[in-house]
Amino acid sequence: MSEGSAKKGFGEKPQPTEEKPRKFQAIRGTRDLLPPETALWNRVEQTAHEVFATFGYGEIRPPIFEPTELFARAVGGETDIVSKEMYTFSNPMEGMLSEMALPEVEKISLRPEATASVCRAYIEHGMQQLPQPVKLYYMGPMFRRERPQKGRYRQFYQIGAEVLGGTDAPAIDAEVIEMVMTFFDKLELQGVQLDINSIGHSAPPVDGKNVCRRAYVEALRAALENVKDKLAADSQRRIETNPLRVLDSKLEHEQPIIEKLPRIGDHLCDECKAHYAAVKHELDLRGVKYRENWRLVRGLDYYMRTTFEITAKGLGSQNAVCGGGRYDGLVELLGGPPTKGIGFAIGEDRLILSLQESGKAPAQQGRDVYIAWMGENARATAIRAAKTLRNAGFRVELPPVEQKFGKALGQADKLGAKYALILGDNEVSSGEWTLKTLADGTQQKLTEPQLLEFLRKL
Ligand code: ATP
Ligand code: MG
Repeated sequence: MSEGSAKKGFGEKPQPTEEKPRKFQAIRGTRDLLPPETALWNRVEQTAHEVFATFGYGEIRPPIFEPTELFARAVGGETDIVSKEMYTFSNPMEGMLSEMALPEVEKISLRPEATASVCRAYIEHGMQQLPQPVKLYYMGPMFRRERPQKGRYRQFYQIGAEVLGGTDAPAIDAEVIEMVMTFFDKLELQGVQLDINSIGHSAPPVDGKNVCRRAYVEALRAALENVKDKLAADSQRRIETNPLRVLDSKLEHEQPIIEKLPRIGDHLCDECKAHYAAVKHELDLRGVKYRENWRLVRGLDYYMRTTFEITAKGLGSQNAVCGGGRYDGLVELLGGPPTKGIGFAIGEDRLILSLQESGKAPAQQGRDVYIAWMGENARATAIRAAKTLRNAGFRVELPPVEQKFGKALGQADKLGAKYALILGDNEVSSGEWTLKTLADGTQQKLTEPQLLEFLRKL
């Protein structure tokens, strides 16, 4: 919309132009989700609603945009997400907000994730007054300006959950993980692999004196300095900014170097060690299979102790479908009371991709009955029949204009209908309708009640 006309007021007539109307396309990194694929999306989301409800979670629907500052604080100003991937705007309502004596919000961003919003909502609505912990889940679009590729989009979807308040009992960590695994199991997701780790603690809530992660990061940084010239530029930079992220490296030549680096497991304080052991025990009690992965880290400071990641089949290098972890310091960091927290986010796009790759996708959005009608009398009967069948829950296609039976049946075939209900003058006057089974071409005569009974039996 670079044309000047776009800036004109609504009342003004656009200037006539010789140019051909422009063909619009979805913006890079965004896409249309279309039928029949959307049927799979709905099935996945429905399953999430059902499974999460059985674990006592309620749904929260936070706004799509929030103050930029919220994400800067929660996710961290130094992270890729905040420093270069957010869609940020100056708030066009600025003036009005100050007139309404609401706090000024100069910059707003499309949400790159939802944990920050859920924590904000927990504080804003005084949820610490509710029975603890508060268990919430969400689903919806997130926005990050990343390089688009398979399984990586600029508008993508997450299904996530957070447990806020109460204790940091290891059973909570284990149950959160059990819930995700139950959800994946219900969907028959293939090649599911759960990795877990403990990354210790970095902030006072546990024990300010013995901040085991800080000690580990220092040991790691020192070890990295020793091998600096063997590392790629990205990793070299991270020695200063965020040494934990070096462990994420997928570069072939860095792998043997990383294998020899100090491991967090050897640096955990006694409390963190005990917590981690108890989480594993709780997972065993729940029959959840896991693999310990000492290189699994989260770069953000407020993440602590339990971290986990789940991968699935058919996704190539973008194979993480779920990431999660404990973040006891976050609510406090956002101005709330000291609050325990743990949560996860599932990448719904990747989940769907994996299900499609393993043939779990519905093929077509079929119709049960296609009503082929001819003549004015039949038309009235057809409208009534459509209403009755739809009320009974059948998927019905009623062509809006009359067409020859041959053409109608061809159409019914193309739409993947199971039956064609044929209504002509004969059928209407005799009250005996013709039902054609499209798979084998057989026909039968049925009255309206008989038709309903026949379809219901299937
Ligand atoms: P990755 O390492 O794949 O970039 P991440 O660490 O950025 O993931 P999180 O912020 O933990 O991911 O988000 C949780 C999940 O959301 C990821 O495991 C992934 O499935 C999904 N996800 C993250 N970014 C995208 C994206 N740009 N497009 C599609 N899915 C995404
Ligand atoms: Mg990422």
